[in-house]
Amino acid sequence: MIGRLAILGVGLIGGSLALALRRAHHVGEVVGSGRRERNLQRAVELGVIDRYALDPAEAVRGADMVVLAVPLGAMEGLCRQIAPVLGEQAVLTDVGSAKRSVVEAVRAAFGRLPEGFVPGHPIAGTEQSGVEAAFADLFYHRRVILTPLPETGLRALGEVREMWEATGAVVEEMSVEHHDHVLAATSHLPHMLAFALVDSLARLEDRHEVFRYAAGGFRDFTRIASSDPVMWRDICLANRDALLEMMDRFRDDMDRLSQAIEQGDGDTLLEIFQRAKQARDAFAG
Ligand code: NAP
Repeated sequence: MIGRLAILGVGLIGGSLALALRRAHHVGEVVGSGRRERNLQRAVELGVIDRYALDPAEAVRGADMVVLAVPLGAMEGLCRQIAPVLGEQAVLTDVGSAKRSVVEAVRAAFGRLPEGFVPGHPIAGTEQSGVEAAFADLFYHRRVILTPLPETGLRALGEVREMWEATGAVVEEMSVEHHDHVLAATSHLPHMLAFALVDSLARLEDRHEVFRYAAGGFRDFTRIASSDPVMWRDICLANRDALLEMMDRFRDDMDRLSQAIEQGDGDTLLEIFQRAKQARDAFAG
């Protein structure tokens, strides 16, 4: 049970976490913080938080657990604001989609990696954002990855694990590097493809005609291109090296596909499509 929880960034992820913990009776009081008061007032109206403070330092005062749930580019600035007032016993965690950059942000702001800091990332989300989109079931039966550091204390790690388990999530641990590499492949690269495809088609001269005849497959493939642009700008910049490596690999594979089409090489096309279908069927099954 968390006595006082501070959520910095009461949007889709921070708001859903608060709702899930309240439903599980795993938290006493929830204090929110963010830039826009209207959003925070709405979060109180929706029963997501009990109260709010526009000043993050005020919001974390006396908190037992602090969750950073803002876009990656805002993490360091926020940490600098809370570092002077964060309690010795307080546990600090985050939900950022890339982990190396958050670790560096915390190190820069605190001048060291606090024992109470546990980097984390729930592998759950939607293309919606903001507190209105938050719901208590978001993490149910979904994975949450924790990437504890050599400096991370066992008590803090245990408390963050228990917090996520209370939401119904399945918690796993891995290294920061492994996380960033795996997520570049499974999440960041697919988002690049969706954004690039929709942008490319949207700039065609006959785009109205193209979108008019776009059917279910296009809708399925491009849903994630509706995700928040600021969040995705920050993820690309934060996970630059791993993402570029995946994009290079993918570019080579696209070149092979182009070459096979150009050369009328049906055998190669069939081989690629059969291998992909097998892999996708096995994953979906
Ligand atoms: P969101 O719905 O847009 O929520 C972000 C919240 O942070 C908003 O309430 C926003 O409120 C606040 N905020 C933004 N910039 C801020 C700043 N500079 N200082 C203080 N507050 C700020 O975004 P989200 O989807 O919850 O994503 C939050 C984090 O979760 C990101 O780091 C993302 O990488 C990670 N994540 C997202 C997903 C997903 O699928 N969406 C999944 C896993 C992890 P104001 O605008 O009022 O400040």
